[in-house]
Amino acid sequence: MGFDKNNQDYNVLVSGGSIAGLTLTYWLHHYGFNVTLIERNDGLRLGGQNIDVKGPGWEVMQKMDLEKKLKAAHTTEKGIRFVKKDNTIAGEFPANNALSMTQEIEILRGDFVEILFEKVKDKAAFRFNTHITALQNDHTGTEVTFNNNQKEKFDLVLIAEGIGSSTRNLVFGSTVKFKYTGIYSSYFTMKKAATDNHWARWHNAVGAVVFLIRPDNHSTTRACIFFRSPERGYEKLSVGEQKDLLITKIKNVGWEADRIVDAIRESDDLYVERVSQVKMPTFYNERVAVVGDAAYCVTPLAGKGTDLAIAGAYILAGELAKNSNYTEAFQNYQDLVKPYATSVQKLPPGVPRLAYPSSKMGVVVLNGFFSLASSKFAKFLTNLFGGSKSKTKSDFQLPTY
Ligand SMILES: Cc1cc2nc3c(=O)[nH]c(=O)nc-3n(C[C@H](O)[C@H](O)[C@H](O)COP(=O)(O)OP(=O)(O)OC[C@H]3O[C@@H](n4cnc5c(N)ncnc54)[C@H](O)[C@@H]3O)c2cc1C
Repeated sequence: MGFDKNNQDYNVLVSGGSIAGLTLTYWLHHYGFNVTLIERNDGLRLGGQNIDVKGPGWEVMQKMDLEKKLKAAHTTEKGIRFVKKDNTIAGEFPANNALSMTQEIEILRGDFVEILFEKVKDKAAFRFNTHITALQNDHTGTEVTFNNNQKEKFDLVLIAEGIGSSTRNLVFGSTVKFKYTGIYSSYFTMKKAATDNHWARWHNAVGAVVFLIRPDNHSTTRACIFFRSPERGYEKLSVGEQKDLLITKIKNVGWEADRIVDAIRESDDLYVERVSQVKMPTFYNERVAVVGDAAYCVTPLAGKGTDLAIAGAYILAGELAKNSNYTEAFQNYQDLVKPYATSVQKLPPGVPRLAYPSSKMGVVVLNGFFSLASSKFAKFLTNLFGGSKSKTKSDFQLPTY
């Protein structure tokens, strides 16, 4: 098989069944490719809080005719409040405020993944509990060995496995660089409490711990705990060990920590990840290309990871459809996406250090900023928290295929 393709005879393996992988599957199928999607987990991974879909990512969703469904899954969040230990409000930013992290489209990551899956479930062969253990390229294709030791040949392998991608590491080895921001994030679902409402609540606790509690549309509450730490590989611990770690970190920091400790113990969707950017000199090697967080994770601090994953998937599929040579297609994809990803990866000055004070005084100062910022220091805070609504970062022209 060469790349003088009749798309229907062209077998593409997509690895990773989340936002990048499912979007990619939709567009590859749309152009006539034969797609197999593998996912390491035993089902879709539906954990996490809200994710940002805007800019080019939103344009792609419109092209996929998903606008209505995504809007209907709105989490009901009205805006964000920065709250002190007694839950009094230090600063408040409603959804329509340029500083608010609450967007017009607020959707849970899990709802989003389910909506995408619904759209593509009959457009590819899906295999769960499956991952790649080895790959071998030759002029006829890529021979893939799966975790069940079965071997199979594909024309192309596209990796959409998120930040911790093991197949990317197999193929690209030490060329993959990570820029650790000094923060770990953890996400889980918990029971709704009397203090939860339609506002997201951000609380800076001592010990460089940040709680972000957000409403959802499932009668539960989505919790996120960020904490500063040297890089320790916590993302590789077992779930039980991660629970113990988090409980130890937060049990004495006050605010609603007691309730959150209980929720961590009960949780069944805990997800712990280091907040790191991924930087790859090239997004492809022979017949293998990388897309989404696996290739250019920007971190939630930059607020554009999902947008980039969607746009990247759309462009990768579009270039493969447009070019009769896969190397050219991969190169064009890289030329289009890399500059955008690199610009988004430039975090504003002060992030993350200023936003995660470790001392009591630092927390007081930060809360002071929040209350002033509600009226005066808007620009400063826009920069501090990633400027998710800033103009420069959304200046990206999505190609038409
Ligand atoms: C459980 C979970 C919760 C998250 N919560 C948030 C959140 O609350 N806020 C936020 O901003 N971002 C969150 N993220 C990250 C966010 O989804 C991404 O930043 C972004 O949407 C880009 O998506 P992606 O498809 O590139 O990667 P991801 O969404 O990370 O998806 C990667 C997928 O690949 C699968 N996978 C991993 N390794 C392999 C392998 N070797 N073989 C096959 N499949 C593999 C994973 O199980 C996962 O389904 C979360 C990710 C996950 C997995």
